[in-house]
Amino acid sequence: MRKETKCVQAGYTPKNGEPRMIPIIQSTTFKYDSSAEMGKLFDLEKEGYFYTRLQNPTNDMVAAKIAALEGGTAAMLTASGQAASFYSVFNIAGAGDHVVASTAIYGGTYNLFNVTMKRMGIDFTFVDPDCSDEELEAAFQPNTKAVFGETIANPSLVVFDIERFAGAAHAHGVPLIIDNTFATPINCRPFEWGADIVTHSTTKYMDGHDVGVGGCIVDSGHFDWMAHADKFPGLTQPDESYHGITYAEKFGQGGAYITKATAQLMRDLGAIQSPQNAFYLNLGLESLAVRMERHVQNAQKVAEFLAKDPHVAWVNYPGLKGNKYYERAKKYLPNGTCGVISFGVKGGRAAAEKFMSQLQVAIIATHVADAHTCILHPANSTHRQLSDEELIRAGVAPDLIRLSVGIENADDIIEDLEQALKSLD
Ligand SMILES: *Cc1c(COP(=O)(O)O)cnc(C)c1O
Repeated sequence: MRKETKCVQAGYTPKNGEPRMIPIIQSTTFKYDSSAEMGKLFDLEKEGYFYTRLQNPTNDMVAAKIAALEGGTAAMLTASGQAASFYSVFNIAGAGDHVVASTAIYGGTYNLFNVTMKRMGIDFTFVDPDCSDEELEAAFQPNTKAVFGETIANPSLVVFDIERFAGAAHAHGVPLIIDNTFATPINCRPFEWGADIVTHSTTKYMDGHDVGVGGCIVDSGHFDWMAHADKFPGLTQPDESYHGITYAEKFGQGGAYITKATAQLMRDLGAIQSPQNAFYLNLGLESLAVRMERHVQNAQKVAEFLAKDPHVAWVNYPGLKGNKYYERAKKYLPNGTCGVISFGVKGGRAAAEKFMSQLQVAIIATHVADAHTCILHPANSTHRQLSDEELIRAGVAPDLIRLSVGIENADDIIEDLEQALKSLD
């Protein structure tokens, strides 16, 4: 199946007489004929459902669709993108361990790593995604357990050199985790470039309609945990809470990581997505390929308009010729990047505020990457916990306006921006 077909059909194939649409299994628990049978599930001896905090059939069908889109071997849904980012790292790193992360990542992820996970005893070294080979090499430590980057960073739109970082991670015997939220598997499949684990905030393009907060983690099945057994004891040594099973042995290279995250992290932390939200997510996924195509077309037109407008100080869109990441985007995202553009208005903060208040089609919202065109000033909202210096390091200029181009008619979006820019005269 090609990606457009997978969007509609992967993850669920109804048998004779079954519902055409993925059913919502809105049940916390599942019935068994004997305790012995249920016991096998608790021992991870048999596959099946017993409690929705760990697994639910609706969630699994939707996760399987995302795994198919990414070309992975296993996947799980989480309650949010934040939960996905947290689990993806915490599944293989604990107190005393270290992780190398790109500086060009979502502000929420930076905070999660730099504040909350540091308090849990995990150390992070943040590297400029365009750093020299020497700097990248120097970031690794003997206790490094993973490398983390974002395909297209929210909101700096830095395009990550996945292949290069995968090479560095593998040379140090650790996996590369990629947050693929902005690109979606329609525009980039990080596994094809050497990434080992992919995460998503499904809240963005995958849902696509401002309906449900959610996340997803996908395993490529490429990383050989057993070959680096000393680094990943959680996967390669017996788990006493499940009668001494060893994930990498019992579930193999393609299943160990997600099974462990489900059996331990979901069991203990419980950031599960509701089956109802998984159903909505699936509706979004069905049109993902069609929507991404329109997002990219519209954003290209809008970026080209902004680049020519005299009120605009600068435009950052990797699809624009002359953008720092134009060539890299051509390599990793040949069908286009995403619908998000950032730009600055001449006249700084005050002009930006006036401009934004005049908009009618583009609405002010703390959200990006969905059907509705929306706009935000990150230094004043999502990134306000960062100092100016940290903002610049994260690739977010203090005057940056983030515009998420939706799937409306591009001419309506452009006319709206044009009248608001004219109000600055
Ligand atoms: C929004 C976002 C997140 C966090 O996801 P939530 O669903 O809001 O928890 C993580 N990464 C990226 C790139 C995002 O845009």
